[in-house]
This record gives sequence, structure tokens and C-alpha cells, in this order.
Amino acid sequence: MDVIVVGAGPAGSTAAYRLAERGAKVVILDRQRFPRDKPCGGGVTLRGASVLPFAIDPVVERVVTRMDVRMGYGGPVCHVDGEGAMVYMTQRSRLDLFLAEQAVSAGADFRDGVRVRDIALRPDGVEVRTDTGVIAARAMVGADGCNGVSARALGVREHSYAVAMEGNLPRGAAGYDDSAWRDAALLEFDVVPGGYGWIFPKGDHVNVGVGGYLEEGPRMRDHLRRICEVHGITIGDLEHVRGHRLPIRRSGTPVATHRMVLAGDAAGLVDPFSGDGMYEAFTSSRIAARTIGEVLDGTAADCSAYPARLAGALGPHVASAWAAKYVIEKAPWLMFGLLRTPRVRRIVGRRLRAEPREHTSERGLRISAAITRASRRGLGPSAA
Ligand SMILES: Cc1cc2nc3c(=O)[nH]c(=O)nc-3n(C[C@H](O)[C@H](O)[C@H](O)COP(=O)(O)OP(=O)(O)OC[C@H]3O[C@@H](n4cnc5c(N)ncnc54)[C@H](O)[C@@H]3O)c2cc1C
Repeated sequence: MDVIVVGAGPAGSTAAYRLAERGAKVVILDRQRFPRDKPCGGGVTLRGASVLPFAIDPVVERVVTRMDVRMGYGGPVCHVDGEGAMVYMTQRSRLDLFLAEQAVSAGADFRDGVRVRDIALRPDGVEVRTDTGVIAARAMVGADGCNGVSARALGVREHSYAVAMEGNLPRGAAGYDDSAWRDAALLEFDVVPGGYGWIFPKGDHVNVGVGGYLEEGPRMRDHLRRICEVHGITIGDLEHVRGHRLPIRRSGTPVATHRMVLAGDAAGLVDPFSGDGMYEAFTSSRIAARTIGEVLDGTAADCSAYPARLAGALGPHVASAWAAKYVIEKAPWLMFGLLRTPRVRRIVGRRLRAEPREHTSERGLRISAAITRASRRGLGPSAA
């Protein structure tokens, strides 16, 4: 076997697709049987979709062309719109099955219902112990999300975490307003410490959620109840209510060793401002496939290029997310005032639609790291 991919979420399946396309022998292992769901708003930004090597149209249920942003459950609503689509709304059960199918069509061997128990890392490959036996390969992508085993094998002790809870309000339930939510997503800021509330339109339901700092975990259901009340929804009408942690990488946390790289949530790549992680999953899997591809064809000895490539692709993006988080928490009304200016709305729109420019200069990366450090320090222990 050339490559074992652990986890068939957005990071794993797209890494497997790219590697199989290059001609590698790839196996994807996932402990769950597919289709499976994953707690998630299911919003794929245009930026995220633009990284993918194929279109996801078959599983897009709504196209969001407008973000309605409000502060503190009151006051004026700021509309961020213009220039067409911003976010593709999907359901993770359908999206993830679709992504896994693409990997299979490229030649990957997908084994669902197979749990990885243990990973032995060697300088020239990996050995993975599963419920059903041992598999060896020349390289591995650890894409087993927030609660997987790959990060631990690499020596990652703990990421920093946020937490979110969401549920689906079916069409026809009290409070369901199809005309309001057809192509608009609502974001409620300054209502949950360290996060926000949302309502996302889907095919036959809307997704209602809240997210924030990890210590808000015990109060997440209350936050969810509150956003429901504000919108005339009874929390008991929400279906499939569940919560999950969102991993946010600490600076210096390892993401690669000789023949193994971490991608997506396993690497702690969730955007600290938006809580999105699919763009980061798709981007890291692209870099993972390139790096491992070079090892397989002999142009690189190991995966040591991966951390710097990841920093170049995501470092400035992460820094701007931390800076925005700092401003919205310390001065929410300043942020809202800024959002009302067309120039800032254009910047937000661009951030949702297009991949950020890659930074590879030492100076650019140092500045990004400094902005990230200063914002996290300024936000205090919850953001550390
Ligand atoms: C409530 C909530 C809302 C969110 N909303 C959005 C959103 O709207 N847009 C967005 O971009 N992001 C959102 N996110 C973040 C997004 O869900 C994640 O960043 C994304 O799923 C990361 O993808 P991944 O492939 O890295 O990991 P996952 O999607 O978590 O996939 C990991 C896979 O690994 C498998 N696995 C785990 N352990 C093992 C093991 N030992 N052996 C084998 N397989 C294993 C799991 O079964 C799973 O299928 C949200 C997160 C939460 C919690």
C-alpha cells in the first residue's frame, strides 16, 4: 500500500482523491459506516469549494447570496451581499458520502466501519492497527478529526477548543420562514462569548446553531434555546440536536513527521473567528497530497516540507481571523460600524469567495504569527 488515509471527512476523502488521481495505491479507513452525519452547519464557502478538484453541485441544497449580520439580538441588520454566491449549503451526511465516492471513483479503496486503534510511525512508513487487522504503507494522512488517534501518534497533546451545538428545524414547524431564509444566512454576534449564533437555509429545513468558547459548553443548550426564542422557534422542534468540539491549533503544534501528515481538524485547523473548518480541510489535504506525492515519486525524502507549506497557505488567513475575533469581542459595535461600510463588506465578501494569497516570505509569515500571538494574548486564557 502507498498511502493510508485515516478518516473520510472533507480532509481525508479529498486527500485520498488527489493521491489516487496521481496513481498512488490508497486506502481510506473510517470508523463509521457511511452515510454518516457529523455535527456541522454544512456551509461550504465559495473559497472552500474553489480549492476542490471537482464540483459539489449534486449535494448543494441552497446557495447563500446574502449574509444578514446583527449584534446582541437587536438593532439594525447589516446585509453583506452583491456579486452572487457566497456559501453553498450542504448536509454533511450527503456531502461526505459524495466526497468519499469521488475518492473511490479516482481509485481509492474506501473501507468504512473500520476503526484505527494504533499507529506506529517509522522513518520509512507507517503501520496502522485496526479492528480488523494491521495495514502497512509508505505514508499516511491523519484526517480523523477532533477526536481521532493520529494527532496523538504525532505527539500532539491537546489543541485549544471551541464548542458548538446545532439542530435542524424542519419545514412546516412553527417559526420556519422559507421566504426569509431562502438564500440568506443569518449571523447573530455578541450573543455567545467567543462565538455567534446562526441560521442556515437548507433544502427542507433550516440549521440553527450556536458556538463559542469551550467553557460555554455547559451553557450551550441555553444559548441554543435563546436563539430559538428570538426567532419564534421552540427548541423542542429542532431535530438531531448535537454538540461537538472545534479544534484550534496552538502555535508550534506538530503537523507532520517523516511519513505522516495531519490534515483538517486532526491538525486543529478550524478558523478561530468563523468556526469553519472545511476550507482548511480542503486546503491542507491538497498540500498533504502534494507533499506525500513527492515522497512517493522520490523527489522528496520525507514530509518535512508540509509545515511550512501549510503556514504559507493558511498563516495570513488565520492571523486575520484572530484579529477580527479580537475586534469583535473587545469592541463589537466598532466591528458592526466597520461592517456597514461598503469597503469592509467587500473585504468580507472577498474572504468568503476567494482563496487568500499564499505567503511564503519569512517576513510575511513572521508578521502573521505576531498578529496571531498578540490577538490570542489580548483575548485571554479562553483563546490561549
Ligand atoms: C456545530 C458545528 C458547526 C460547524 N459548521 C461548519 C460550517 O458550516 N462550515 C465549515 O466549513 N465548517 C463547519 N464546522 C467545522 C467542520 O465541521 C470541521 O472543520 C470539518 O468537519 C473538518 O473535517 P475533517 O475531515 O478534518 O474531520 P471530520 O469531518 O471530523 O472527519 C473525521 C473522520 O474521521 C473518522 N475517525 C475518527 N476517528 C477515527 C479512527 N480512530 N479510525 C477511523 N476513523 C476515524 C470519523 O468517523 C470522521 O468521519 C462546524 C463544526 C461544528 C462542531
